Amino acid sequence: MPVMIRIDAIEKRFDDLVVLRNITLRIEKGEVVALIGPSGSGKSTLLRCLNLLVPPDNGRLEIGKNRMVFGESSAKLKPKDLAVFRQKTGMVFQHFNLFPHMTVLDNVMEGPKTALKMDKIKARELAIAQLEKVGLSDKADMYPSSLSGGQKQRVAIARAIAMEPDVMLFDEATSALDPELVGEVLSVMKELANEGMTMIVVTHEMAFAREVANRVVFMRDGVVVEDGPAKQVIDNPQDDRTKAFLSHFH
Ligand code: ADP
Ligand code: MG
Repeated sequence: MPVMIRIDAIEKRFDDLVVLRNITLRIEKGEVVALIGPSGSGKSTLLRCLNLLVPPDNGRLEIGKNRMVFGESSAKLKPKDLAVFRQKTGMVFQHFNLFPHMTVLDNVMEGPKTALKMDKIKARELAIAQLEKVGLSDKADMYPSSLSGGQKQRVAIARAIAMEPDVMLFDEATSALDPELVGEVLSVMKELANEGMTMIVVTHEMAFAREVANRVVFMRDGVVVEDGPAKQVIDNPQDDRTKAFLSHFH
């Protein structure tokens, strides 16, 4: 499979705090990578760097056909390039981040209409199709406040995939949900994985990681400590730091 994501020597610091140290990863098209590690290890920062919510200080990124170089040349990043890069990198957060004043349908239509300049009828068709995919076409005219957490998160996924991203990034998408609502979101994510979407999933759901991910990457203190086939890393971790972390889940 061709490489979809190239992360090359990415570094990020916040003032004196070094959060990402020379991260280098290749992710193939269609691969599902579970990114795990203790709190504060840099997982969210890495995802934010990938969709440029937080631009890296140094290094290079390539997602699909789009390439960006950081460092001295960051000053030259053009808003148009940033917008294209972000569109190709869908992100789902722990706290949904839906637009509260818009209906479910309008939430999903908004990106295609404004960022992709899609006409309203097409955007509407696309949004309805995405809502069907996540099992929520009957909620199209509701407002987010009347949905359960699991439903909100499925709308957030529909909204992200409506932008036709090359990759999907999930940052603890099920961590804020009541336990009985986790499964419905994980099953939408699994379906997306089965359709061949390239995904990086930050998660504490080890059973999901083991079953759905091809690969597990374990981070600690801003470095990649271990990277291997999901079942191998979870069942038989090699590094002592990975072993210590995973022992909390047994
Ligand atoms: P994780 O997602 O693995 O818990 P994060 O990427 O959120 O880790 O955070 C890594 C480190 O970077 C933490 O020490 C965190 O406090 C720090 N950090 C994250 N974002 C910022 C920010 N915007 N400003 C300052 N420090 C930050
Ligand atoms: Mg985080």
